[in-house]
Amino acid sequence: MLYMSQDETQTKTDRQKQIIAEARRNRELREKTYRERALKLFPHVCGKCGREFSGKKLKELTVHHRDHDHNNNNPDGSNWELLCIYCHDNEHSRYEDSATYSEVTPGGEQASSGSFKPFADLEALLKNKK
Ligand SMILES: [Zn+2]
Ligand SMILES: [Zn+2]
Repeated sequence: MLYMSQDETQTKTDRQKQIIAEARRNRELREKTYRERALKLFPHVCGKCGREFSGKKLKELTVHHRDHDHNNNNPDGSNWELLCIYCHDNEHSRYEDSATYSEVTPGGEQASSGSFKPFADLEALLKNKK
């Protein structure tokens, strides 16, 4: 039955969308708190290319976790580095994505398929938005 399998696919897609939306919310919440702290601790300069960010541009300055563990948010900022989105991208592309982005998988929402990487898509989406 062709229609049945289409329905099934539809449901799965909706579920995935839900998971992605949830994961995104979680990450945004988490990022907001440590990003604000990092921005208070450090000068608003990219640690790699040295560009300065202020005002609206500050959005392009992101917090990189030196050990790639986004749960390691030492209050003294020793695990943080401010990087612009471009340098941040470079930094991560030097690592295999499975290890790098494991931290963005929200707890309890593990996808059963190992190939499902919600944030691989998300990063692409964010890039396209600009
Ligand atoms: Zn940079
Ligand atoms: Zn990073």
